Amino acid sequence: MPTPAGRPLVVGTGIAGLYVALRLRELGLRPTLVTKSRLDEATTRYAQGGIAAAIGPDDSPALHLQDTIRAGAGLVDLPAARALTFEAPARIADLVRYGVPFDTVEGQISLGREAAHSRARILHAGGDATGLSIEETLKRRVLDAGIEVRERTALRGLRSTAHHGVVAFVSSEAGRGAEELDSGPVVLATGGTGSLYRQSSNPSVATGEGVAIAFRAGALLTDMEFIQFHPTVFWREGAPRFLITEAVRGEGAVLRNEAGERFLVGQHRDAELAPRDVVSRAIDREIHRTGHPCVYLDATGIPRDRLFARFPSVCRFLATYGLDPSRDWIPVTPVAHYMIGGVTTDLEGRTTLRGLYACGEVASTGVHGANRLASNSLLEGLVFGERVARQLVHPVAGRIPAPARTVRIDWPAGSGREDVPGAVDRVRDLLWDDVGIVRTGAGLRAAIEELSQLGGSTEPGRAKDLAGPVANAVLTASIVARAALVRTESRGAHYRSDFPNRRPVWRLHIGILRKEAPGIGP
Ligand SMILES: Cc1cc2nc3c(=O)[nH]c(=O)nc-3n(C[C@H](O)[C@H](O)[C@H](O)COP(=O)(O)OP(=O)(O)OC[C@H]3O[C@@H](n4cnc5c(N)ncnc54)[C@H](O)[C@@H]3O)c2cc1C
Repeated sequence: MPTPAGRPLVVGTGIAGLYVALRLRELGLRPTLVTKSRLDEATTRYAQGGIAAAIGPDDSPALHLQDTIRAGAGLVDLPAARALTFEAPARIADLVRYGVPFDTVEGQISLGREAAHSRARILHAGGDATGLSIEETLKRRVLDAGIEVRERTALRGLRSTAHHGVVAFVSSEAGRGAEELDSGPVVLATGGTGSLYRQSSNPSVATGEGVAIAFRAGALLTDMEFIQFHPTVFWREGAPRFLITEAVRGEGAVLRNEAGERFLVGQHRDAELAPRDVVSRAIDREIHRTGHPCVYLDATGIPRDRLFARFPSVCRFLATYGLDPSRDWIPVTPVAHYMIGGVTTDLEGRTTLRGLYACGEVASTGVHGANRLASNSLLEGLVFGERVARQLVHPVAGRIPAPARTVRIDWPAGSGREDVPGAVDRVRDLLWDDVGIVRTGAGLRAAIEELSQLGGSTEPGRAKDLAGPVANAVLTASIVARAALVRTESRGAHYRSDFPNRRPVWRLHIGILRKEAPGIGP
């Protein structure tokens, strides 16, 4: 029986946090699970398209790996992607064992096709309610297993110690003092940064706090410049940015401009099924060229029955705006969607700080390279969640190699105020306008300058104080902008109009480290 120094603390209740907590419990540990919001408020529940795994008769993990590598634009870490794709069927078997009701046809799990996947390998549940089904199932299992769950309990800080690994500070009310938690290892499963952008598919909890907190404690971050934009989110003035899953294009929907032209034909051999960055940029260009605020997804070629059976949530949502996708074109626009980089981990989910682990969207495992293949992120939470759980129970030695280029960031110490009026709105505007789908050196420098002014007034002045959500938002945004400024090329999700081509010298990961943090690697 393992004897950890204290109970593992798992932070976040999306797919990664719920799954790690469950597996830890099954392996004999007693984790504590905390979330800054409610148990069921995470990005995971909004995932529509599904989860990828090579389980079809004409498919294999090797093909899944090949597609993942191709999408990643030269930066996928092979061992990590191999683990992701080859362990996928076993993790799906876990979900089936827990009771996730995947959709079936004649008793077999039905598999959909998505952009840049060479085979039909996307499992879905409830049509387009995959994330919700997985989250609900795992949540029930967590509660049934008697795992201690603390809602509205935010991780506020981490301190790295020589003897006890990291010490966590949590607060049960934002803005109030934080208590030091007497826990064992800490597993960050705090998700991504999407909602820091003005236009985003993400729920409000996705503020990248895990990244800021780990960075302050001295952890290495990598690939922070790579933010993936989703090409097709419902557009209407004042309407929520509801995602129209890529699987609709997988079923045959096409993109048209206001004049009805299929503008992607001739731009990429896969047209509407080209990688997300290509489609997002093409739409962005078309919107700027025409001055029309959106383009249109035309799903009228898909039989009505199929459309409504396969995408019930999308059809229900559109009906509230008087649209029937079997008859009407859907107005869409690209938005910020997914954080590809994050807290650097090895294959066991270890970060560069002893006792700190990360998995799910907050982690940078290297599986996505410069561009995530659709439906690989729910899977990543499971595969590396499993690896973290095993590592905590049966540790194996290892060390994270230093990234080829590491940028150290200093951060201004200011007055310590958290109530800077409009700071988060300004962050969201700056990221969308200057650190968005198309970036320039001048725009990035201007954003960094303004963010550092904001940082100066939000960062606590005394070292013992802990940063709050506003300071974390400013810091995370600044990290993304700085990494984007360093990468003077265009690759995958990162596009610089002043460096529009991919450059072989940049086929490397950019690490970001706090100035006074200890060195990394051998
Ligand atoms: C609209 C939409 C559709 C998507 N569709 C798909 C899809 O079809 N397939 C796919 O693979 N991926 C999809 N994705 C991406 C995928 O959903 C996410 O990458 C994945 O769910 C992330 O899971 P996670 O467990 O890492 O984080 P999350 O699900 O975001 O959970 C993070 C948790 O951490 C908590 N938290 C954050 N900060 C703190 C803190 N400081 N203290 C305490 N708790 C904290 C949050 O409250 C939350 O509980 C989609 C994303 C969106 C937005």
